[in-house]
Amino acid sequence: MQERVLITGILGQDGAYLARHLLDLGHDVIGLGREFDDPARLWRLRYLGVHDQVRLVELDLDTRGNDVLTRIAALRPDRIIHLAAQSSVARSFAEPLLTAESAGMGAVRIFEAARQLGGVPVVQPSSAEILDLQGQTHIDAHTPIGAQSPYGAAKAFAHLMARVYRQSMATPISTAILFNHESPLRGDAFVTRKIVRELVRIRRELDAGVTQPAPLRLGKLDALRDWSHARDIVQGLWLIAQHPQAGDHVLASGRLHSVRDFVSLTAAHVGLDMVWEGQGLDEVGRCPRNGHVWVSVDPAFYRPTDPDQMPVDLRSTIEALHWQPTPSLAPLIAEMCDFELTMNGRNAP
Ligand code: NAP
Repeated sequence: MQERVLITGILGQDGAYLARHLLDLGHDVIGLGREFDDPARLWRLRYLGVHDQVRLVELDLDTRGNDVLTRIAALRPDRIIHLAAQSSVARSFAEPLLTAESAGMGAVRIFEAARQLGGVPVVQPSSAEILDLQGQTHIDAHTPIGAQSPYGAAKAFAHLMARVYRQSMATPISTAILFNHESPLRGDAFVTRKIVRELVRIRRELDAGVTQPAPLRLGKLDALRDWSHARDIVQGLWLIAQHPQAGDHVLASGRLHSVRDFVSLTAAHVGLDMVWEGQGLDEVGRCPRNGHVWVSVDPAFYRPTDPDQMPVDLRSTIEALHWQPTPSLAPLIAEMCDFELTMNGRNAP
């Protein structure tokens, strides 16, 4: 049955992939966002070929008062997937107020709109950043909360409010604790996009005859992450949205890779021979033939807190949703590299 689905944050990475997925399934998509009059901001929707198939509604969720509630009520959605948020951990340390407003209060405005509409189902994307991962041997949707960044704290507030609305205010709000998910459409400031962009730049400079391109500089190479493809994650979000019972879920790949692994796979894909030498701050990735350094460590990029992580247990997700992530990281990296190569140094197509 065709549904009218409201996606907030439609101009972001997940918004674009979710819009594509829902249109492919025959649904009617309304996309909420800001500054649609700048055509460059629609690049992700255009890239996925959906910019003229979604109804775009301009609404800033930081707006106080009843405006958000009345505007959403007027749209009469069957379901809401609330993706809008200031989503960068690094930026949240520089702008904690904006982050709390956007990732925290923005979500509550959506929940309240859903309640006033008589209980429209909502999916709230929480983040691994809301979890207290330190010393945890088992990670799933029941891992204790203990955020370590303003972004994590704002998302934790929204996560707890989602539970309150569900358990005490008769509004079917589900949460999805999401681990890192990437794609060619990932924002420019995130580390995976930076790795791909910089190694493609080095490749391009070498091909143009530059003998010693400036190296890619990164923080902790040992940092472990669970990276999925954003396409997998939005499919999981839609399965959660349709689940007959609202609840808490976790969406991840279930695999852990270090930042070093991500760099090695990317270097191999763009044809850069590289060996790792040294340790800690002195570690470098260099060309085995001429010794040129492609990658070095810069303490300025270390995160203030970065707990070790165990693999995510996906058993309850797979059982409840019959959802499976793509098994390997390599195809995602290949897709990101191929996209970057076609961009020829531009930020967006
Ligand atoms: P994204 O690319 O940063 O997109 C977020 C979108 O939200 C942007 O288009 C942004 O628009 C919009 N937005 C922010 N504040 C807003 C406001 N006050 N009013 C209206 N729109 C606003 O993020 P994403 O990667 O698609 O992630 C989607 C959701 O999943 C986010 O809630 C994020 O926190 C969560 N999440 C993502 C990951 C991940 O690895 N990608 C992991 C865990 C959780 P502007 O350009 O106008 O700011």
